Amino acid sequence: MAQLYDRVALIGLGLIASSMCHAIRRAGLAREIVGYARSAETRETAREIGLCDHVADSAAEAAADADLVVLCVPVGAMEVVAREIGPVLKPGATVSDVGSVKAAVIDAVAPYIPEGVHFIPAHPLAGTEHSGPRSGFAELFDNRYTIVVPVAGSDPAAVTRIASLWQGMGALVEEMDPEHHDLVLAVTSHTPHLIAYTMVGVADDLRRVTDSEVIKYSAAGFRDFTRIAASDPVMWRDVFLNNKEATLEILGRFTEELFALQRAIRQGDGPHLEEYFTRTRAIRRGIIEAGQDTDAPDFGRVKARKE
Ligand code: NAP
Repeated sequence: MAQLYDRVALIGLGLIASSMCHAIRRAGLAREIVGYARSAETRETAREIGLCDHVADSAAEAAADADLVVLCVPVGAMEVVAREIGPVLKPGATVSDVGSVKAAVIDAVAPYIPEGVHFIPAHPLAGTEHSGPRSGFAELFDNRYTIVVPVAGSDPAAVTRIASLWQGMGALVEEMDPEHHDLVLAVTSHTPHLIAYTMVGVADDLRRVTDSEVIKYSAAGFRDFTRIAASDPVMWRDVFLNNKEATLEILGRFTEELFALQRAIRQGDGPHLEEYFTRTRAIRRGIIEAGQDTDAPDFGRVKARKE
């Protein structure tokens, strides 16, 4: 694919930004990538591994002269970064982000985007439990969806360009409005993470009784919870603080279903349990048929790059 942007600035140099560096380079989508992260340590690591062409010493320095600036920081840090870069953004530039929540990020960032600069939020639905500049890899977005969330009055050409960037990085692109995005993600990602955190917390409490058995026998389902529950604590704190309504709504529904299953178990209602599990099994098949996971033994874990 041809070059789409001249200078791309990535603010935050964690899993998503470092994967973007590799994926942009793989396809030659930008002439130059400039990066910035808050700590000197992360900036040093990025320089050491040659992650980007240039690592700047401030967000404003990275964003000045860029024709695309992507905010790759935790959701709660978006506003402070937007405030800093707002005054230096070049007319005609595009600002985007990769935050896992969209409505709150739009509220936080939009006020700092000057007239003549496009703001086009996005969210790649791809990740691992690893963080930091060394954790990225070019294939992270391959065949995964990226949701582009244009705000009112977004320039269609600028939207098409950022969609092409994500496609060039291997992603499948869909558009959604921010509220719908936040509800869909509350179902598919945010609430499952909360459940994983809870399950691992419960097992940790029980450790006094079962000791190393929790770890020794973890392959039987629990291991997948521990992988999810190992995700970055700051990122996930910010997700729940900023997608409050949708996650609370889905958690309410979850609790009702859990009570219904609890009652079925207590009453020995086998048909209810079997019917429920049959329905959920069909959902799993649908995900595999849509190419969004593998039915290989052990979820293809042996081959998977970052598992
Ligand atoms: P990460 O690996 O934890 O990296 C976060 C980066 O942001 C670090 O480089 C950190 O710098 C930097 N940062 C934090 N506060 C900052 C500030 N005030 N100014 C400048 N830099 C700052 O995170 P990630 O997984 O790449 O996540 C980044 C964003 O992508 C989040 O909004 C998250 O919701 C979203 N996202 C994550 C995933 C996932 O699965 N991980 C998937 C899709 C979207 P230091 O290293 O110096 O602290």
